Amino acid sequence: MARSKIKKSLIGLHQKYGATLRGRYTKSYLTLKQKRKCPKCGSRRFRRTALGIWSCPKCQHIVASGAYNFVTKKV
Ligand SMILES: [Zn+2]
Repeated sequence: MARSKIKKSLIGLHQKYGATLRGRYTKSYLTLKQKRKCPKCGSRRFRRTALGIWSCPKCQHIVASGAYNFVTKKV
């Protein structure tokens, strides 16, 4: 018998706040923590430093973009 997979929706919030909200939280959290390439030097250490501010520690390149994702949807 195959063992059931542990759901990713359990990151951080254990049994709190309800399934829908946990799902939303997990989705945005995982997009936030994805590995990204720096648009200037191509380093994989490119990450968010503050809400809407993305920076590369290698080449000090700072860009303003989305709150949880670097590439935002175009309206
Ligand atoms: Zn860089």
